[in-house]
Amino acid sequence: MSNSSLINLVQDLASGKVTIVDLTATLEPASPTLKLPEEFGWGKSWPFSIEEISRYDERGPFWYWNNFKCGEHTGTHFDAPVHWVTGQDHNDNCTDNMPVENFVGPACVIDASAESAADPDFLMSIDFIKQWEEKHGMIEAGSWVLYRSDWSKIITSDKYLNMQADGSHTPGWEPDAVVFLAEQRNILGVGVETVGTDAGQAAVQDPMFPCHNIMHGANKCGLAGLKNLDKLPAKGAILIAPPLKIKGGSGSPTRVLALVTS
Ligand code: MN
Repeated sequence: MSNSSLINLVQDLASGKVTIVDLTATLEPASPTLKLPEEFGWGKSWPFSIEEISRYDERGPFWYWNNFKCGEHTGTHFDAPVHWVTGQDHNDNCTDNMPVENFVGPACVIDASAESAADPDFLMSIDFIKQWEEKHGMIEAGSWVLYRSDWSKIITSDKYLNMQADGSHTPGWEPDAVVFLAEQRNILGVGVETVGTDAGQAAVQDPMFPCHNIMHGANKCGLAGLKNLDKLPAKGAILIAPPLKIKGGSGSPTRVLALVTS
């Protein structure tokens, strides 16, 4: 039967052979948002806020609902190629017109948790990625590359943004590692546990914010604020990460799920 793989998937989900891992942090007023250097006057993203409209009371006796607002890049969220100036000229580069195929793909999880714990400014290099490939095989085209830093485990703490006098100190990428992933591996995009896909000190890298600059310039995507990457295998999980269909949107909070065989 032509649809046997889908029937198998449903059966495997029902039997627990395939399980679903939630890679999403809860969206709440305490959700951290990116703080860009104020001296550049680069504007502010609204933090998540929520306001009750009614809850089975005089404002609405039979229903409960809320208003909420936040920046597109809040909590666990998707970065579309149009997010960066280098990605502005691609066709179909926004949350509403991107190919939906970009929202589902295999995941390669590169564990840099020990290195990130030892050095909050750790930058992933090509060599680090190639060492991972020696162990787990080549990163296939169309994969999400997920950067496990275990940073999501400190999401409610000041250490999450790790702000110092000179800005945030959180792990990221060496620029040529991003070029390698975009050009030599043709990945779908990268996902990270930190507040943005770049290092905390990315404003002083060359190019500035290399992951945004190079990935979106190559029409690739990003996922930030992921959690539970330690619950995924190095290879073999399938990621499902559709952003809200905001017209002309540069990104959106996203529920990110991973299918995993147990
Ligand atoms: Mn973002």
